[in-house]
Amino acid sequence: MSSIETAQRYFHLAADVMDLSSNMRTLLLTPLREVKVQIALELDNGEIGTFIGYRIQHDKARGPMKGGLRYHPEVDAEEVLSLASLMTWKTAVVDLPYGGAKGGISVDPSKLSQGEMERITRKFVDEIHDVIGPDKDIPAPDMGTNAQVMAWINNQYEKFHGFNPACVTGKPVELHGADGREEATGRGVAIVTEAALNKLKQSVQGAKIAIQGFGNVGSFAARILHEMGATVIAVSDAFGGIQNKQGLDIPKLLEHVAATRKVEGFAGSEPISNAELLAAEVDVLIPAAIGGVLTKENAKDVRAKLIIEAANNPTMPEADEIFEDRGILVIPDILANAGGVTVSYFEWVQNQQYFSWDIERVRAELTKMMSSAFDRVWKLATEKKVSPRVAAYVLGIGRVGRATILGGI
Ligand code: GLU
Repeated sequence: MSSIETAQRYFHLAADVMDLSSNMRTLLLTPLREVKVQIALELDNGEIGTFIGYRIQHDKARGPMKGGLRYHPEVDAEEVLSLASLMTWKTAVVDLPYGGAKGGISVDPSKLSQGEMERITRKFVDEIHDVIGPDKDIPAPDMGTNAQVMAWINNQYEKFHGFNPACVTGKPVELHGADGREEATGRGVAIVTEAALNKLKQSVQGAKIAIQGFGNVGSFAARILHEMGATVIAVSDAFGGIQNKQGLDIPKLLEHVAATRKVEGFAGSEPISNAELLAAEVDVLIPAAIGGVLTKENAKDVRAKLIIEAANNPTMPEADEIFEDRGILVIPDILANAGGVTVSYFEWVQNQQYFSWDIERVRAELTKMMSSAFDRVWKLATEKKVSPRVAAYVLGIGRVGRATILGGI
């Protein structure tokens, strides 16, 4: 099943609960605008590199469109559209005044030099600057992009449109970025993990956790959950996995990763495979890497009682059904990883007001928004007797649908 079929399957499950008409479904699923551009540049070796860039704007009923930019070899129009639609529901679930969009370039960033990364980014902005902007569509980091890439986007956009820091979020703190944006998705994941564990009458303290993916989201989630007293026993990255059943020393692991760029080889841990990590004997499993990792083949092996979707689209619908049958609670991506876009919103607000918040304010507001979204979703799931995923979609689709009707077709 493709990523777009997966996203639509989840949409229809909620639309059925809402008794949404087929016309309304078509309207809400159809993207507003799909942009596909050629990005040609001279590579360091003197050859010409030609890449394809996408920006897909899914819905703007609730405000300017918002969503990350992904640099990954598997980026294509279908994946970007499915991720753009997730952004529409995600911004609505946390009640941000935004619609949804997503973009990306089909490229392996690990094969590009810093100079090539800068040139590919600036060329991409040259092609899309007319359709993005602080009141139209605001990009942000995603897989394979970071604060430096956002700084180049800001700088290139300003060459066309003048001073405009709110045109992109996730910028470096030294360049109109928000303190706390970098950790925000991981912190949101930790907040939601604690809230969900509490519903299962368990404390986060001493809870055993396995995390797949140790990039921005996975590593900050590990750090913050460790600070909250959880025991992270297994983590993995693109090169391999490690475990220590007594608990990994996360601050030391972060130093090891800063030095070697890999979790492998960390003193006081043993290697494990990806399959072993997903089946680890833990309370909480946190997929924080690519999509489609929990499948009908491996869902039966999962031993966690709670899955927190830090990645976008990590669970295939067949696996989701198996988890529901087995009584495994899944907190969906459009709620669990919404901390990133929430602090992006705070950054955009600060940029528009020329006033910056301190980190305590950012963390306090993030906690408030994530906790209240979690409570809304939980209440709806209990009332309607549906999973948190269906409840989150019902909440998101309901808000987008009402804004669409109120605004007028
Ligand atoms: N890429 C992140 C996401 O998937 C953040 C988007 C944003 O900050 O706009 O939610």
